[in-house]
Amino acid sequence: MKRVFSGIQPTGNLHIGNYIGAMRQFIELQQEMDCVYCVVDMHSITLPQDPQELKKSTLDVAALYLSVGLDPKKSIIFVQSTVPAHAELSWILTCNSHTGELFRMTQFKDKNKGDESAPAGLLTYPLLMAADILLYDTDIVPVGNDQKQHIELTRDIAQRINHRFPKAFVVPDYRGMKIGARIMALDDPTSKMSKSAQNPLSRITLLDEPTRSKAIMKATTDSEGTVRFDTEEKPGISNLLTIYSVFSGQEIKAIEHQYEGLGYGAFKKDLVDVVIEGVAPIRQRFDEIRHSQELIRILEDGTRRADAIAQKTLKRVKDVFGLGV
Ligand code: ATP
Ligand code: MG
Repeated sequence: MKRVFSGIQPTGNLHIGNYIGAMRQFIELQQEMDCVYCVVDMHSITLPQDPQELKKSTLDVAALYLSVGLDPKKSIIFVQSTVPAHAELSWILTCNSHTGELFRMTQFKDKNKGDESAPAGLLTYPLLMAADILLYDTDIVPVGNDQKQHIELTRDIAQRINHRFPKAFVVPDYRGMKIGARIMALDDPTSKMSKSAQNPLSRITLLDEPTRSKAIMKATTDSEGTVRFDTEEKPGISNLLTIYSVFSGQEIKAIEHQYEGLGYGAFKKDLVDVVIEGVAPIRQRFDEIRHSQELIRILEDGTRRADAIAQKTLKRVKDVFGLGV
């Protein structure tokens, strides 16, 4: 059976981009593949975090995994820092990657902005991500479009090591959604929606209700006034149409037709309802699960199962490199 691995950072509140671009795939894939889903808390500390907030967010993301429909009987669900092999393998990969390829990563350039006092983890973080993936002999990595470059890097490093030591690693493939692989920020449809963006009105969170309708009603659009899908000319409206389509289950063409002759105001007002209705069941399950002992039990079980796989891979890789006695 094919192995799937993916993870989400517990930095701030998850948003509908995380759900549409990544989590929807997690649920789809768990029906037919061997899935491992991780709360990647060690990635979060690439930038300073409040320790208590980090712990809270880690459990929030784990509870959200279950709330959107992941089944711990089908998928392994665990927290990255509870399996030490991730950090160990990441060092081996660090020694087999080039500084040049890390400096070329778009996300590094976006987040670092040329600041020489920025944490080194911002640069080496894709190698921890590569370790996360390679540790589970992963075939498929379901992520949003923004992570495609990091998957390419993971493939390059795995292939480079395999060239020296054949079959050291399984080389993984990127998998993205056909619709919604990159949900854009509501205040600026030229950049992607992000947990860590400054403006809370740039995103629609899965759990936080008060800002949601304001964010949608104030979303940047254009002056044409026609609800029409055109990512080049109308990135704002196209983004809202994608969100509408995902949560309503309607085709984009049908939505365009429905709003013919109506302004953006009517469309946005209905979108608020569509989104609120779409995320309501997630919120309801989250409230039931978040403070349960069951959540802790599921994560402990996940750690045990993930660790067993990770230890085996790490032993194989250490042997290949001649590490240990
Ligand atoms: P941060 O700003 O802290 O990096 P993020 O919103 O990018 O937060 P991540 O935890 O880095 O969230 O990513 C989790 C998953 O969600 C990844 O698979 C990523 O590709 C996907 N994802 C993130 N943002 C979007 C988006 N705007 N559209 C679609 N998928 C997204
Ligand atoms: Mg991100």
